[in-house]
Amino acid sequence: MIRFDQVTKRYASGHEAVHDLSFELAAGEMAFITGHSGAGKSTMLKLIGLIERPTRGHVTVNGQNLHGLRRGRIPELRRGIGMVFQDHRLLMDRSVYDNVALPLIIAGQSREEIARRVRAALDKVGLLERERAEPVTLSTGEQQRVGIARAIVAKPSVLIADEPTGNLDPQLSAEIMQLFADFQQVGTTVLVASHDLPLVKRMGKRVLVLNQGRLLDDWRPGGG
Ligand code: ADP
Ligand code: ADP
Repeated sequence: MIRFDQVTKRYASGHEAVHDLSFELAAGEMAFITGHSGAGKSTMLKLIGLIERPTRGHVTVNGQNLHGLRRGRIPELRRGIGMVFQDHRLLMDRSVYDNVALPLIIAGQSREEIARRVRAALDKVGLLERERAEPVTLSTGEQQRVGIARAIVAKPSVLIADEPTGNLDPQLSAEIMQLFADFQQVGTTVLVASHDLPLVKRMGKRVLVLNQGRLLDDWRPGGG
């Protein structure tokens, strides 16, 4: 689960990217964050992913209040959070397999366990037959799928994605969003930032609307 209690993030520039934000996403729930460019979507995800720290307030992920968390515990907590980025951040000189294996190698898993999990992850995103390919030979949509496989390979309980369809056409975008919904189906808590409001609405999930760092609206499927 993810909880924000009156969270404010002010960058060193003095700019307040997120202001007094409170919301809770239950374990196994899926939501989108939408809003114009600069609304604070990325900042919200960075606060969850322990890339940024709040200036005020508390962020809780998987029952762990991130405030005052000792540095040494950050890697362990990050392993429970899968992150997907718009630019997918793949290592272009490594195979698809190696890219997806990376989090497990860092976590010190055995070769056998890595092989089993990487293939399971690639199977879930429909890329099992491309494991030996180099990312440059894949389409943009396939590259994003590799990024998603890498994010979920360590079976995180929380999956966050920042504009994962930003570079994709509408058809591919819908397919990628459906993949995230599939991960929710198996129990993952999923939070996806996207400015593509028509696509977000079609998914029929909860939508958090950000405007200038403030929570403007919180739509839930079925009205309200
Ligand atoms: P979004 O993802 O909705 O486009 P961001 O969270 O990236 O919004 O940015 C929110 C605001 O914070 C923007 O005005 C942006 O310029 C500013 N901002 C983002 N990152 C930084 C940073 N590292 N330093 C200063 N200002 C930043
Ligand atoms: P339209 O009715 O044509 O979709 P809007 O886009 O302005 O018009 O949305 C109107 C209202 O519909 C919103 O203010 C919100 O209350 C509700 N709504 C929009 N999208 C969703 C959604 N994904 N889930 C639940 N309610 C929604």
